[in-house]
Amino acid sequence: MSPETLVQTPLSVPLQFTTADFDRYVMSTYARFPITLERGEGCRVWDSEGREYLDFVAGIATCTLGHAHPVMVEAVHQQIQTLHHVSNLYYNQPQGELAQWLVEHSCADRVFFCNSGAEANEGAIKLARKYAHTVLGISDPVIITAHASFHGRTLATITATGQPKYQKNFDPLMPGFYYVPYNDIAAIEQAVALLDSSERQVCAILLEALQGEGGVRPGDQAYFQRIREICDEKGILLICDEVQVGMGRTGRYWGYENLGIEPDIFTSAKGLGGGIPIGAMLCKSFCDVFQPGDHASTFGGNPFACGVALAVCRTLEQQNLLENVQARGEQLREGLRSIAANYPHLISDVRGWGLINGLVLNAEIELTSSAVVQSAIEAGVLLVPAGPKVVRFVPPLIVSAEEVDQTLRAVEQALATVS
Ligand SMILES: *Cc1c(COP(=O)(O)O)cnc(C)c1O
Repeated sequence: MSPETLVQTPLSVPLQFTTADFDRYVMSTYARFPITLERGEGCRVWDSEGREYLDFVAGIATCTLGHAHPVMVEAVHQQIQTLHHVSNLYYNQPQGELAQWLVEHSCADRVFFCNSGAEANEGAIKLARKYAHTVLGISDPVIITAHASFHGRTLATITATGQPKYQKNFDPLMPGFYYVPYNDIAAIEQAVALLDSSERQVCAILLEALQGEGGVRPGDQAYFQRIREICDEKGILLICDEVQVGMGRTGRYWGYENLGIEPDIFTSAKGLGGGIPIGAMLCKSFCDVFQPGDHASTFGGNPFACGVALAVCRTLEQQNLLENVQARGEQLREGLRSIAANYPHLISDVRGWGLINGLVLNAEIELTSSAVVQSAIEAGVLLVPAGPKVVRFVPPLIVSAEEVDQTLRAVEQALATVS
């Protein structure tokens, strides 16, 4: 089946359905930009007025292979007509093969599948707590997380998230979390010592290798290596939230590979299925303490999601996309740095790894990341804020040199407009 046949099928709402109609029926949990996206191909999407945009959001670091990629079209078609869902009461081959691929391309030994990043982190938190109770003998376990982190929107994961704006009005929060500033070695040493001298004991440290939502802030090697030592000394678990930076986004399969350490547990979601909902929680065998009945998910690991994710994983490998991520990332950062040099009053930094990059706006001025994003939409490029002062660039990993250049020209135009 060709992609054309798919878009012609009138699955969607009639054309006269307006954004006001949308807002009448859908809960307003998002401040949406006022365009309706209708169709995509590669790194481009089109809105309901036929306007074309370069998509440097990719569903927030999710559409690994862009839109309507032939491999995904084929995998979706093939899997839906073979077997799309059965319970985890039975074995299914795509789940097993995807787990094998993930284990062979990471430091992990075992995989649990679920449907989202938050759910993967919930699984990691449950696994760490069970490890604390059954192996470490800790009755009141604490997980240390970082300020400005982001781990999801369920109650446990907003608690893990070290940003009060996500927690406000949702208390009582989950007990068992403690926060430290990111990339601060002295602070984490103090926190571990403080907690150890109290009734509560640390069972795990949960961190992003690069903080995505918190402003595209890369982790320091020395910081993560010291944390690895602390975890080894105390027998506690290092958990990396790889939901945004995993699956090739940084130019390596996993974000932690940029830091010279291996976590004991890590989570994946966004890019894993290329836009098909899937999440995974992976661990080394020594901390795989789950037994039948401990944890579950109805949809998790179904043949449909796993079959498509497996096709995405194999394409990432077979087409050497990591090389493209590194080259296009260099090109993008270099281009953004030369634009930044023309606007020293607006931009204070350009930072990131591979194809997750942030343009950091000057803290002293009023300009917000949303204003720049709005202006970039008008110039034909989709970008996404990472907090109020950082504009994030997370295109599909298949992005071409020409598309990066075109985006750089649009960013220049957008900044000229807002300045
Ligand atoms: C997006 C994100 C999550 C949450 O993922 P959902 O699929 O929205 O639940 C968790 N952690 C990080 C680092 C993320 O970027």
